Amino acid sequence: MTTETFEFQVEARQLLQLMIHSVYSNKDVFLRELVSNASDALDKLRLEKLRDDSLDADVSDLHIELDVDKEARTLTVRDNGIGMSYDEVGKLIGTIANSGTAAFLEELKEAKDAAGAEGLIGRFGVGFYSGFMAADEVTLVTRRAGEGQGTRWTSRGEETYTLERVDDAPQGTSVTLHLKPADPENQLHDYTSEWTIREIVKRYSDFITWPIRMVPEAKDGQDAPGPETLNSMKALWARSRDEVSDDEYHELYKHISHDWREPLETIRLQAEGTFEYQALLFVPSHAPHDLFTRDFKRGVQLYVKRVFIMDDCEALLPPYLRFVKGVVDAQDLSLNVSREILQQDRHIRMMQRRLTKKVLSTVKEIKAKDAGRYATFWREFGTALKEGLVTDSENRDAILAVSSFATTHSADEPTTLAQYMERMKDGQDDIWFITGESRQSIENSPHMEAFRAKGIEVLLLTDAVDEVWVDAVGTYEGKKLRSVAKGEIDLDAEDEEKAGEEREKQAEEYAGLLGWMRERLDEDIKEVRLSTRLTVSPACVVSDAHDLTPALENMYRAMGQ
Ligand code: ADP
Ligand code: MG
Repeated sequence: MTTETFEFQVEARQLLQLMIHSVYSNKDVFLRELVSNASDALDKLRLEKLRDDSLDADVSDLHIELDVDKEARTLTVRDNGIGMSYDEVGKLIGTIANSGTAAFLEELKEAKDAAGAEGLIGRFGVGFYSGFMAADEVTLVTRRAGEGQGTRWTSRGEETYTLERVDDAPQGTSVTLHLKPADPENQLHDYTSEWTIREIVKRYSDFITWPIRMVPEAKDGQDAPGPETLNSMKALWARSRDEVSDDEYHELYKHISHDWREPLETIRLQAEGTFEYQALLFVPSHAPHDLFTRDFKRGVQLYVKRVFIMDDCEALLPPYLRFVKGVVDAQDLSLNVSREILQQDRHIRMMQRRLTKKVLSTVKEIKAKDAGRYATFWREFGTALKEGLVTDSENRDAILAVSSFATTHSADEPTTLAQYMERMKDGQDDIWFITGESRQSIENSPHMEAFRAKGIEVLLLTDAVDEVWVDAVGTYEGKKLRSVAKGEIDLDAEDEEKAGEEREKQAEEYAGLLGWMRERLDEDIKEVRLSTRLTVSPACVVSDAHDLTPALENMYRAMGQ
């Protein structure tokens, strides 16, 4: 058989160099990554077989196997899952396709020194390549279920890898690490030690729903004992809260989200009754970089009676909660459900309502209990959550209750609408806001002068979605949400009469000037009028009360409308 040699993609090479020279202290995680890939491969095969019974694949004993050879100093992670075709190996292993890794490399470019780069490893899943932290050569042999021929991939993690077709590969994938020389100082990380492997599996992969077996070493003159299963395989979402440690929840989060950081919050929900399901949801601690792109993969994993059915099940949570990760396991759905069916299913809609309320009430609790954690949540996900003010009228109040906004009241502490109301001046009828691109630009806008002079608080809204929700919401607790840049504004309602007289006098006085301005600017404006809203600037441009605000006008213009 011919062996072909290929060069790694530039990004892949960078990443590999980082792995090879890594002094990252927690090298153990490579095993979690390989086991996680094997588990995914088993999920995929079971599902494919379920969808297509004619697939020529053996699904009778799906499992993961760990095989240590002390003499040769190798560790093999084997699965009999979906496997990869020749082309897939080149595409999936030779390049960097997954978005988490892309984000990792983005940040890597910005990291100024080696120490910065090391820190990054801990924050991103770097998947398959992490094997090179422990090995100086990696061999992968795989055969895609249903196909006759297999593929061998080999690399020392340097410039190139080789691909070769093999005839006798078993179904699935085996990854063999040729381990780096032993470090006598550090017995704990001796990956030829069964004890070490057992500890790592317990720690990181106990919840994996497939058996992870240790291939026993044959001892002289004795029959090898049967394989031992290292993990308990218990679905964490089906176990009671006090049986599961936070660490275990976090490891599950890392497995399904491909994030290496701890989640901000873990949310459990057990629904009993006619439509039974269990949910284990996670709020990440960081927004993914592609949260606002169109191909962001949203949704949680759907299981039916412990069987993995699909990733990214978007029907279970509304789009504005798309950052939530997790697992939902339903008792009474067909194993053959499709995305289309899910979108229309009445039970699924009920689940969505319940899960949405649960997430929002959890955010409310965080807000009440832990200001720091709430601040992180809002910084990372507030912009997404505010979309719900527009799209989810049922939960509008719950979303408003956990929303906070920058305000002229404080340079760095955002405020809720409720807090704003408490500070409102006697006789103030409206909640004032201004929208624009940045706090700085709107804070110094001429529209703000009168408000500043009178000490009236104004919310400073700088997200595009702010333009839309303020309209959709309209009023809060009977107070109108009003833009400082729209319509006629009279902040002196009390001295109405006096003001009226004076204004008439002024109007006469300035009639000539106003008429002249009107003539000169005829093409561009609707009207020129005297105003009480300015204290320093001589003039400003305002919109009609029902016009688009300038920022929204820009947004629509940018969208070509
Ligand atoms: P990720 O798991 O985040 O996608 P990895 O670097 O861990 O990234 O793996 C890259 C891809 O290689 C996987 O998405 C999968 O398609 C493929 N792959 C890796 N390991 C296996 C395996 N054991 N069986 C089948 N496919 C695999
Ligand atoms: Mg992976």
